[in-house]
Amino acid sequence: MHPQLEILLELQDLKAQKREMEEAAEETSREIESEVFRVEPEDAVAQLEEKIAEMEDALEPEVRKRYRRVAERRPRVVVPVLSGMCYGCFMEMPTAMARNNDAIRWCEHCGSFVYFVD
Ligand SMILES: [Zn+2]
Repeated sequence: MHPQLEILLELQDLKAQKREMEEAAEETSREIESEVFRVEPEDAVAQLEEKIAEMEDALEPEVRKRYRRVAERRPRVVVPVLSGMCYGCFMEMPTAMARNNDAIRWCEHCGSFVYFVD
């Protein structure tokens, strides 16, 4: 897999994790939180944010530009392609496109980065 694609997938994971933690922190009472989390939820979220910023810096400028643009309007920046279909917008991917993850590719319809799983 292309190293930049790996960073994008990891970034997406970290952001999902951060969202979940923020939601959990809101729903759970302080009392229970302190038993569940080894660190304060706010600290954990801050740590995630730091890691996210660090990984965004590791993206190539062109990739980062697209990543930011997609992240603004879509919940997922990287989506799988299954049976030639983009799972960001459910449109067919061009058949001429190489079906591997050796390069950074994106969907022409929704702009999401894609990775092939079939
Ligand atoms: Zn798409």
